[in-house]
Amino acid sequence: MTKYDPQSAAAAEFINHEEIEATLAYAATNKHNRLLVQEILEKAADCRGLSHREAAVLLECQEDDLNAAMFTLAQKIKEELYGKRIVLFAPLYLSNYCVNGCVYCPYHQRNTTIRRKKLTQEEIRREVIALQDMGHKRLALETGEDPVQNPIEYVLESIQTIYNIKHKNGAIRRVNVNIAATTVENYQKLKAAGIGTYILFQETYHKENYEKLHPTGPKHDYAWHTEAMDRAMEGGIDDVGCGVLFGLNLYRYDFVGLLMHAEHLEARMGVGPHTISVPRIRPADDIDPQTFSNAIDDDIFAKIVAVIRIAVPYTGMIVSTRESQVSRERVLDLGISQISGASCTSVGGYEHREAPEDNSAQFDVNDTRTLEEIIDWLLDLGYVPSFCTACYRAGRTGDRFMKLCKSGQIKNCCLPNALMTLKEYLEDYAGDAVQKKGEAVIRRQWEGIPNPAVKAKAAEYLQKLHDGMRDFRF
Ligand code: SF4
Ligand code: SF4
Repeated sequence: MTKYDPQSAAAAEFINHEEIEATLAYAATNKHNRLLVQEILEKAADCRGLSHREAAVLLECQEDDLNAAMFTLAQKIKEELYGKRIVLFAPLYLSNYCVNGCVYCPYHQRNTTIRRKKLTQEEIRREVIALQDMGHKRLALETGEDPVQNPIEYVLESIQTIYNIKHKNGAIRRVNVNIAATTVENYQKLKAAGIGTYILFQETYHKENYEKLHPTGPKHDYAWHTEAMDRAMEGGIDDVGCGVLFGLNLYRYDFVGLLMHAEHLEARMGVGPHTISVPRIRPADDIDPQTFSNAIDDDIFAKIVAVIRIAVPYTGMIVSTRESQVSRERVLDLGISQISGASCTSVGGYEHREAPEDNSAQFDVNDTRTLEEIIDWLLDLGYVPSFCTACYRAGRTGDRFMKLCKSGQIKNCCLPNALMTLKEYLEDYAGDAVQKKGEAVIRRQWEGIPNPAVKAKAAEYLQKLHDGMRDFRF
C-alpha cells in the first residue's frame, strides 16, 4: 500500500488511490449526515476553502435543503470574490499532429480520417488577426504532442509571432499554453517566452483507467503526466491550470483527485492551481461520446462547479464552448470566472470560419455564437465581459496573485480593468446596440469601484480610451 503524502513529489503518493477510495467511502457514509454538512458549509462560508474529504462530503450530500444551501453559498462566494466579471478567451489550435493514442481524442495517432495540419508562422499571423478582429486579447495555444512536427522551438516561435502582431488596435496580451507534459528545461523556455498559464488536463486521475485511455505514446506514462505541474513550477511557471475530462472515468473519483492535486501544489510548491477547467466529453471525428459510460448530467455538472467554487475559492474556473449556451448560463453564477467565446477547435479554423475546409476539429463546439453575441448575452445577464490580462503583465502571478486575492485588494484591480477592457471592445469591435448596452453597464459598474482614487483614475482612463488611446490597467 502506498502512503498518502500531499508534499511528496511522487504522483502515487500525492494522488493516492487508497486515500481517494477512503474519501469516497467516507463521503458515501455521510451523505445524510446533516450536522457534518452544516459544519462544512459554515467553515466554507469564510472563503478559507475545504479539504478534499470535506468537498467530497458536499458532492455526495443527498439532503435537498442542504444542497440548495450549498448552491447559494457557491453563488455568494462567486459574487464576493469575482463580482459580475467574466473573463473571455479563445483557443488557438496550432497543429493536430500527435503521437499519442488517447482513445477519446480525434487527434490520436491511428486516426487516418482526420486531416492533419500544422500552421506556418504566416498562417498563425492570419489566425491571430482574425481573432484580434473579433476583439480577443487572451489566447490558449493548443497542439498535439509530436516531437518532430511540434517541437518546443515551434511553440516558442509561434508565441513570439503572436505577441509581435500589431494590427489596428488589436493585441494579444496573454498567451496561455496547453501542450503535452514536458521537461523542466522546456518549461523554463516557455516561461522565458512570456506565457501566462500553463494548462494541462489530467483527463483522469485513476491510474489504471488512465493507462487504458492512453494506450500508446509518451502520454501513457501516468506519473510523467501527473507530475508535470510540479516540473512546470520548478521551471518557473507560476500559474498552472488543471482539469479533468468528465465522462472518461467516475466523476467522484476525478473530483477528489482534482482537489488533491490542488492541495499538493499548495503544499509542495506553495501555490495552488491558477485555474481549474471542467470540460465534458463531446463528439468529434472518430469519437462517439456514447462509448464513454461515465457521462455526467447537467445537475451533477452544476454541483461539481458549485463545490469546486466552495472548496478552492481563489482558483479561477473555466468553462469552454464544449457546453451549450443553456448549460453555461446555469454555471456562470455558481463559480465560473472565465469562458471561451467564438471558438474554433480546428487547425486554421478562424481564418476559414465561413467556409471550413476540413475536419481537423478536436471536438464539436456546442456554443457556436459569435463573440459579439456572447458579449451581448453576458451584458443582458448582468455580467461584465472582461478582456483583462493585467495581473500577468504586472507580474502578479503565483503566490503574489494569491496574496492579493486573499487581501481583498483584487477588487480594486479587477473591476476597473474589466471596465476598461470592455470599453476597448465597445470602441473597436461592437455594433451600435451592444455598444449602448455596454456603456450603460460601464457607467453603472464604475459607481461600485470601492477605492475613490482608483475610481477617479478609472474615469480618466475611460475618457482616454474614448479619445483613442489604448491599454490602460491597474
Ligand atoms: S488529447 Fe492531446 S495528446 Fe491526446 S491525442 Fe489529443 S492532442 Fe494528442
Ligand atoms: S486584474 Fe488580475 S485577477 Fe483581475 S481580471 Fe485582471 S488579470 Fe484577472
